[in-house]
Amino acid sequence: MTETAFKALVLRQDDEGKTQAAIEQLGQQDLPDEPVLVKVDYSSLNYKDGMAVTGTGKIVLKWPMVPGIDLVGTVVDGGDSDYQAGDKVVLTGWSVGEKYWGGYAQYQRVRPEWLVPLPAGITAIQSMAIGTAGLTAMLCVMALEDGGITPDSGTVVVSGAAGGVGSVAVALLAKLGYRVAAITGRESTHDYLKSLGASEILSRDEMGARSRPLEKSRWAGAIDTVGGDMLGRLLAESDYSGTVAACGLAGDFKLPTTVMPFILRNVRLQGVDSVMCPAARRIEAWKRLASDLPQSMLDSINQVVALEQVPEQAAAIMAGQVQGRVVVDLQ
Ligand code: NDP
Repeated sequence: MTETAFKALVLRQDDEGKTQAAIEQLGQQDLPDEPVLVKVDYSSLNYKDGMAVTGTGKIVLKWPMVPGIDLVGTVVDGGDSDYQAGDKVVLTGWSVGEKYWGGYAQYQRVRPEWLVPLPAGITAIQSMAIGTAGLTAMLCVMALEDGGITPDSGTVVVSGAAGGVGSVAVALLAKLGYRVAAITGRESTHDYLKSLGASEILSRDEMGARSRPLEKSRWAGAIDTVGGDMLGRLLAESDYSGTVAACGLAGDFKLPTTVMPFILRNVRLQGVDSVMCPAARRIEAWKRLASDLPQSMLDSINQVVALEQVPEQAAAIMAGQVQGRVVVDLQ
């Protein structure tokens, strides 16, 4: 049975429009009117959650908001859906934690179409070590594959490599047999990145500097979480017929580039979105994560925190101080 009162991190706007985050005791009657009731086991902390909790940018679209764009848990009541009480389910994206209440609560009500059954071979905690960041990393790898990039094509470079998306991308690519170059701004993460399988480490300062329209080609593929001049450089340094998967804006949302990489080197720039990603591709990506991400690596790329620690961890992710993935324990 469900407890009468449970914990949630609730964001409210004060009179000056500032975001205030506090742990509150909620009851079932406070939850949104959605069909499926889930007892949440774990959530995770993504860059977007950091933005929501710290009130950076316009992530939260409705107030009050329970943030947390990812959750894993057990169905308590499936409503009229195909889900049954006891089913283990994962939710990432769909504007949950932005427009709809999300994972930073011990119970949540959600729509069945947002849910994916917890894939075989992945535990609940591992699914949140993966979370939106890991799903996005997998979708980026699949985007490179769609562009015809294989381990024989040459080196694949990952920017923001020590972050959530970047670290899972490095681990996935290395496991799949790619030679991986990792771009990071933090020297303290070099050993960590090598342990994930990076063969080469490049400095964020050097790679994030404005490039010429075309530079010496050196990358068969690229996964970019940073945007701005970094993405411009990765395009300018692409091999002929290289693919660049762009998923993030940790550095800048702008894209200073020219048509040169596209018209002279046949370069493909593929955008990657995990939020509205169609169910079939999502299920495929989760399957691939279960098979392609080494569990030992998965265990090494996460730290587990309590709900009470989320505000400080949110500030840390905004300051670029988080290494790998942060899992939030709601049990
Ligand atoms: P993290 O904060 O965990 O990682 C981002 C990394 O980028 C940091 O660890 C740091 O890596 C690097 N970085 C931070 N600030 C800067 C800067 N000013 N200039 C250059 N590099 C910087 O975030 P996530 O991995 O969760 O997300 C990464 C990006 O991807 C974000 O922009 C996020 O919004 C986006 N995203 C997009 C999704 C989609 O569906 N398209 C889904 C998930 C995330 P290092 O220290 O190694 O340099």
